[in-house]
This record gives sequence, C-alpha cells and structure tokens, in this order.
Amino acid sequence: MPTPMADQDVLSMRQEDLMAWMTANGHPRFRGQQLFEWLWRHHARSYDEVKVWPDGLKQETAFKLPLFRLSLVTRQAAQDRTTKLLLALKDGQRVETVLLPHRYGYSVCVSSQVGCAMGCHFCASGLNGRIRHLTAGEMADQVDFANQVLQERGSHISRIDVMGIGEPLDNFVSLTRFLEIAHDPGGLNLSYRHMTVSTSGLVPAMKKLADLGLPVTLAVSLHAPNDPLRQSLMPINRAYPLAKLIPMCRSYLEKTGRRVTFEYLLLKNVNDGESEAHQLGQLIRGFPSHVNLIPWNPVAEHPYQPSPNARVRRFQSIVHEYGISCTIRRELGQEIEAACGQLRLREEEPVSP
Ligand code: SAH
Ligand code: SF4
Repeated sequence: MPTPMADQDVLSMRQEDLMAWMTANGHPRFRGQQLFEWLWRHHARSYDEVKVWPDGLKQETAFKLPLFRLSLVTRQAAQDRTTKLLLALKDGQRVETVLLPHRYGYSVCVSSQVGCAMGCHFCASGLNGRIRHLTAGEMADQVDFANQVLQERGSHISRIDVMGIGEPLDNFVSLTRFLEIAHDPGGLNLSYRHMTVSTSGLVPAMKKLADLGLPVTLAVSLHAPNDPLRQSLMPINRAYPLAKLIPMCRSYLEKTGRRVTFEYLLLKNVNDGESEAHQLGQLIRGFPSHVNLIPWNPVAEHPYQPSPNARVRRFQSIVHEYGISCTIRRELGQEIEAACGQLRLREEEPVSP
C-alpha cells in the first residue's frame, strides 16, 4: 500500500505505489506503470505531456496528485565540463546538484537536505543549519534534471553519489525510497552498485541501511583517526565515537558485501601529519576498505588551509604501508565552486553565463 507521504507526492511514489493508486481510483493498474515511465523516462513536466493518456485521466490525476518538478535557477559549466545546477523546489527553497564527467560517463552529486544539521567545522553546507529534508521525489528529480541536461551531450547519468548538501542518513526514509525509485528499471534504471551514500557517521542509520542489504557503496567521512581530533572537526563524533563507528563499517561490509570508502579531507597542520597517517592505518587495517584523500576546498567562513601536495603524497604513502588502498580525489569544477563541501545554501545567485 502507498504510504501517506507517497499519496501526496507523485514524484516520491514508486512504480507499485502508482499502480496501487490507479486501482484505488478506479483505473487499470497499467496506468501507474505508464505514469512512472513518463515521469522518469520522458521527463514529463505536466500531465498534459503524457501523450498516451485520455484527457479525462490527465485532468483527474492533475487534480488529485499535483505534479511539481524542480525548476532551474542557474546553470554553470566549468572548463572540465563539470556542471553545477542551482534548482528551485516547490516552496522556493534551493539546492545544488553537480554533474561530473568521468572516463565512463557522468555521475551526479545529489543533495539530500536544504542545509545540514551536522555543523562540521570545515563545510559550507551546514553554515545555516538544516532548513528541511528533501523528499524522495526531490532527490530523484535532481537525477532526472541531470539526465535532461546530458541529453544535449548525447549522454546520461551512470552513477549517483548522495554527497551534495545535507546528511543523507539524517533523512533515512526519503533516502531509501529515492534509491528504490532510482533503481527501478522502468525509470532511472541505475544499479545499486552504481550508487554511493556518503555519511558523517550516523551509526544507527548506518545499521538500518546495512540491514536492508542493498549493495550500495557507503562512504564514511572520517577526516580524523582519533576521537579528540575528530570531535574538534565533527560534532557528530560525540554521539558516535570511533569505537562505535569503525565496528559499524565492518558490519556494513559483512551485511552488504560492499567495502566501505573512508573519506579523509586534509587540512594543513591539523590532520595531515605523519602520525595521523599512521593512526589511520592502525585504525582501519585488517578489513577491506578504501581511503579517498580529499584536498580541502577552501570555504571563506572557515579558518583552515588545504594541505600542500607534498604532505598529501606523504600521507598517502604511509597509508599504503598498511596495505590499504588509498587514492587522492581528482578535484573537478573548482572554478565554479562545484567541488565537495563547497555546495551551500544560496540566497541570491548571479545570472549564469
Ligand atoms: N553529509 C555527508 C555527505 C555530504 S558532504 C557527509 O558528510 O559525508 C560530502 C563530503 O564532502 C564529505 O566527505 C565531507 O566531509 C566533504 N567536505 C565537506 N566540506 C568540504 C570541503 N570544504 N572540502 C572538501 N571536502 C569537504
Ligand atoms: Fe553536513 Fe556533510 Fe557538511 Fe558535515 S560535511 S556539515 S554532515 S554536509
């Protein structure tokens, strides 16, 4: 049965929810399947665009299940083809969504909330706190919007990273519904293996995600190898210290078969020394994982500095000594502030080129 939330928001309804809705409203089930396909394959922005439907059904559905799609506020493209979209939600709030080019195609970095409640001391997204959660439909619509942009380039989205604005596991129900909608072969048709959810480490929600057993990649923002340092950067560490977080990462691997990626951003003379690299190696060695080193992208409101390249390379080579795979993230779209942690809540935007 559709949930109450799904009853009100057509973009947050799974294909089976739409089919059940049609039956409950006296129409054949297949109308729900058609609607799902027109929303996610044909990008219909109004029921009038559902060409295969009679007018009466279009009018009835428009009345009972209003359709609001995201609208474009600005679009900026960097030289490397990274494209940042500022999108307006139906209540006028805004989120940023980024399309990133890779050798295999494009990934999309999806926002999960307007703002963020976690207040990490290096990040732009949480500067104004959390304004609200996004619905599953608002997350799925970011992917759909990205697909429409890529149609112009003869391409489409092959991977989803829930790494934009917000803490996805703080919005668990909508997140998991979004993943289901994105996975449905009748719609966005993406494999769970091509989805990554990034978290600051909400251990109970990590457990709930692990229990679902979906082969989604979990990226854990670690950023420090000991509690005092992590606590000074990420307030969430008080509630879920490393002694709870790291065993949960092992358990995620056991339940889903997917190794965890540890994200570690490097702040000059804060967490990028040789001793932190050794502590990190000792903390996570012994089970398959991957470390992704992220050069810090400056945020004017925060006092840090990015690590110089030589320190980043030294850090990486020490982590390698522990037999742990460790890469340095390629930074894309820097000149348009589209890189990790630079997305933020915006009041006003310049007109895009
Ligand atoms: N809330 C989730 C996902 C969004 S943040 C999380 O924290 O994991 C995505 C990644 O960007 C996280 O690893 C986060 O720590 C990192 N990040 C935040 N601010 C950054 C910055 N200024 N430069 C580089 N990475 C940053
Ligand atoms: Fe929120 Fe992630 Fe930014 Fe922390 S790093 S404030 S959890 S978006």
